[in-house]
Amino acid sequence: MPFDAVFLRGQKPRAQKRARELAAVFTIRALASTSPLWSGFSWPRMVAGQEKACSPPGMTPLLQVQNLDVAYYSRAGKKSPALDGVSFDVQPGEALGVLGESGSGKSTLALALLRLLPGNAEIQRGAVLFEGRDLLRAGHRELERIRGARIALIFQEPSVALHPTIRIGQQIRDALAAHQSFSRGVLRDKALHVLEEIFAEDAARIADSYAHELSGGQQQRVLMAQAIGCGPSLIVADEPTASLDATTQQDILSLFKTLRKKFNLSLILITHNPALLAGLADRILVLYAGKVAEIGPTEDILTSPRHPYTLALLQSMPGGQEERANGRKSKLPVIPGEAPNLAAHANGCRFESRCTDRMDRCIEREPAAVAISAGHDVSCFRYGG
Ligand code: ATP
Ligand code: MG
Repeated sequence: MPFDAVFLRGQKPRAQKRARELAAVFTIRALASTSPLWSGFSWPRMVAGQEKACSPPGMTPLLQVQNLDVAYYSRAGKKSPALDGVSFDVQPGEALGVLGESGSGKSTLALALLRLLPGNAEIQRGAVLFEGRDLLRAGHRELERIRGARIALIFQEPSVALHPTIRIGQQIRDALAAHQSFSRGVLRDKALHVLEEIFAEDAARIADSYAHELSGGQQQRVLMAQAIGCGPSLIVADEPTASLDATTQQDILSLFKTLRKKFNLSLILITHNPALLAGLADRILVLYAGKVAEIGPTEDILTSPRHPYTLALLQSMPGGQEERANGRKSKLPVIPGEAPNLAAHANGCRFESRCTDRMDRCIEREPAAVAISAGHDVSCFRYGG
C-alpha cells in the first residue's frame, strides 16, 4: 500500500490537500481504493450542456487547451471565476512556461488539466485535448490511466509529497506498479534504473533512504524520478523549485532540460519567476487574473514584452531592465494596486486599473488576443483587439 492511512489521517488539512494533488502523479489508483483521504474527494462538476465532444485535433499538438473557464464556489454559493477563456497548445517535445503573479490561476490551470480540482471548483467550459482525447469528458478509468502514466504532475513541496516512513525505492516501485504489473524482480530493477537516470551512481543509496535523509533538492529529484517512471509524454511542474535555494534551482532546471531532451518530453513549467524560464522554455504564456495576457516565444516575451502587465512584471524582477538601468541601489519598481476581484469584475480589461497605458476603451470591454508576429499574441488594445 503506497500511502499509510494512519499517516494521512494525522496530517493537517493543507498537507492533506497537497498530498492529494501529488498522489495524482503516481499512485492515484491505489489511493482511491485505500485512503480515507480520497473518500471525501468529489470530482469537479461539469455544467450541463457542455458535454459535447470537440472535434479531433490536427494530431500535431500534444495538448490543446481550448477556452477553459474554471470557477470556485464559496460555501454560500458565491461564484468566483479563476480561469477565463484560457487557450493554448503544447507541441510534442515543447517546453511551455506559464508565468503569473500569485492568484493568477496557475495552479488552477495545472489541476484543471487532469480534473484534479477540489470539489468546490467547476469547469464551466472548454476542452483539454490530449493525444486526441478530451480529458474534460474522459471517464474516470481513462483519466486514471493518463494521470501519472501519460501526464505527470510535479508540485513544489517534495517533503509533503514523499511518504516519511516508506523508503524511496519502495515509493518509486509503488508509482510504477500503480500503472503496470511487473514481477518483484523486474519492478526492483526498473525502480533502480529510474533512480539512476536522476542520481547516477548514488541511486542505490537514495533508494534505501527515507525522505528525511535527503536534502530538498534530492527530494525534488525523487519526484522527478517518479514523474518520468511511467514514461509520460507531458510533465506539468507547478513551481517545482520554489522551495529551493538558487543553486539547487539551477540544478533542477538543468535536470529538466536533460530529461526533456532524452525522453522527448513536453513540459509545462509554472512559475512566478521569469528568470527560471530563460534557456528552458520555448514559449511563455503570461497569465493575469485568470486570462492569457500574452503568449509568445520566450525570447520575445523576455526581451520585448508587449503587454503592459508583462512589461511591469519583468521590470519588477531583481536584475530586470529597470534595475540595471537605475543601478543596484535603486528601489525595484512594483506594479501598483492589486489584481481585480474576479467575482466582482464586470467589463473591461482586468489590468486596466493598474495599467500606465490605459485608454478609454479599456474600461468598456475586454481586449481580444491580437497576433503581433508569428506565434506571439497579446490581449491589449494598444495592438488592436
Ligand atoms: P500562487 O502563485 O500563489 O500559487 P496561483 O497562480 O497558483 O497562485 P491559484 O491557486 O490557481 O493561483 O488561484 C487562483 C484563484 O483561485 C485565486 O483567486 C484563489 O483565491 C482561488 N482559489 C484557488 N483555490 C481555491 C479554492 N480551493 N477555493 C476557492 N478559491 C480558490
Ligand atoms: Mg499556485
